[in-house]
Amino acid sequence: MENQDIVKAYYKMEAEFNYSYGRISRFFKELMENKKIMGTKCLKCGIVFCPPTSDCPKCWVPTEWVELGRKGTLLHYTIIGLPPLWLKRKVPFTLGLIKLDGADTGLMHFVNETDRTKLKKGLRVKAIFAEERKGYITDIEHFEVIS
Ligand SMILES: [Zn+2]
Repeated sequence: MENQDIVKAYYKMEAEFNYSYGRISRFFKELMENKKIMGTKCLKCGIVFCPPTSDCPKCWVPTEWVELGRKGTLLHYTIIGLPPLWLKRKVPFTLGLIKLDGADTGLMHFVNETDRTKLKKGLRVKAIFAEERKGYITDIEHFEVIS
């Protein structure tokens, strides 16, 4: 089949659905109600996960909740220049992998800096919460560069 024989069609699909956060519900509840960022700690190996996991993927044992700080370190980042279809957000914007203080893993979120001369691994960042919180990861509006 030649390329010109392939027909492409574009559709905009919207759907409402319910999703259960299950045993990590507390993470979203604390974001929404208390502006707290929670992680989970493996009772066996001690790794602290954020985003949280209900069970350690390494040890296969349940984790316990731990409160993390609002500050963290930028591990990696990418500047998005083309608007993704699935996200209504002005471009350019930066996605960063942030290791919150007290955590061992990274949380992907927006970072408020898009100047590539100012972005670098190891920057300190702080969570800025949305005024109106609904129990979504976007209850953290973005992370602000603080150093
Ligand atoms: Zn473990």
